[in-house]
Amino acid sequence: MLPTTIAGSLPKPAWLVEPAQLWAPWRFSGEELERAKRDAALVVLKEQETAGIDIVTDGEQFRQHFVHGFLERIEGLDFVNKKRIGIRAERYEADCPRVVGPVARPGPIHSAEARFMRAHTGRQLKFTLPGPMTIVDTIADEHYGDRPRLAMEFGRILNEEARELEAAGVDVIQLDEPAFNVYLEEVEEWGIEALHRAFEGLKCKTAVHICYGYGIKANIDWKSTLGDKWRQYERTFPVLAKSRVDQISLECAGSRVPIEVLGLLEGKEIMVGVIDVATPEIETPEAVAQTIRRAMEVVPVERIIPCTNCGMVPLSREVSMGKLRALGAGAAIVRAELGTG
Ligand code: ZN
Repeated sequence: MLPTTIAGSLPKPAWLVEPAQLWAPWRFSGEELERAKRDAALVVLKEQETAGIDIVTDGEQFRQHFVHGFLERIEGLDFVNKKRIGIRAERYEADCPRVVGPVARPGPIHSAEARFMRAHTGRQLKFTLPGPMTIVDTIADEHYGDRPRLAMEFGRILNEEARELEAAGVDVIQLDEPAFNVYLEEVEEWGIEALHRAFEGLKCKTAVHICYGYGIKANIDWKSTLGDKWRQYERTFPVLAKSRVDQISLECAGSRVPIEVLGLLEGKEIMVGVIDVATPEIETPEAVAQTIRRAMEVVPVERIIPCTNCGMVPLSREVSMGKLRALGAGAAIVRAELGTG
C-alpha cells in the first residue's frame, strides 16, 4: 500500500560534477567517469533505500541532463554546434543540439546502467527517459520541419530502448513529459500517439511524468503567471485517462493544482507529488501524510503512489536527502493509520 517513488533525478555528489546546477560538467572522463557514475548511482540507491523509497531509480547519475543525456547517443544530431533556442514555449533559452539528418539509435543507450542497477537492488526499479514531445521541444530541428513526425520518430527510437530496458529487468519505464503542461492542444493531437509508440509492446509498468519543471527561477516566474488555480492538468488528464499509460504524475505539494483533477484519472495509478522541489524547506512527515490524505479523498488509496513533484537535481544533497526521508516517513504514517504499515 502507498509504494513511494521519486520523479527521477537526485543531486550528484560534488566529486562527480559541479554541484547545484543543471548541465553541470563532469569532473572525469573516459573509464574514470564511468566508474564515478556507477559509484554515485550506488550512493543514491542506498540513500533511497534507507529513506524507505519503494520504487527506486538511478537518480539520473549517469546523464548530464534528462533530455540531452539520452540524445547524446542518437545519430542525426549535432552536439558540437549547438543552437540557443527558446524552449517550453519560450519560457527559457537553452543550448540545444541541432537535428541535421534522419534520427536513429545506433545501439543500446542505458541498458548497461539498468543492468547495473538491477544487480544492486531487490526493490522495484524505475528507469526514466525523456518523452517524445519534450525531446522535440529541446532540440533545434533543421531537418524534419514537422514536430509530430519527429516525435513519432523518437517514439520509435524510445520503444527500441524501452524494450531493452524491460529485458534488463526494469519494472517501470517512465517518460518525462514536462512539455505536456505547455502544449495542451498538441498533447491531444499527437503527444499521446507518440507516447503510445514509445510504449508499444511493453509488459512492464509504464508511466508518464508531467510537471511544472524544476525549482529554477524561470519556472517559478512562469508559475506566478498561471493564476490561482493551475488548470493545465484538466486539459490533459481526460486524454491520458483514455491512454494505455499505467501511472501518471502530478504536483500536489506547494502547488496550486486543484486536488479534484485527480478524479480525472479514472483507473490510473497516480504518482501524487507530495514533495515540493521548488523550495529548500524540508517537508515534515506529517505534511507529507496530510497531502496523501487529501489525495485519498478523491482517489482510492490503492491507486496512490506518493512521489516528489519533479526531479531534485537542482537541490543540495542535504535537502534532497531530507526530502527523501520525509517522503518515506510520511507514507509510513498513513500506512500505519490504515493498519497496513
Ligand atoms: Zn518534472
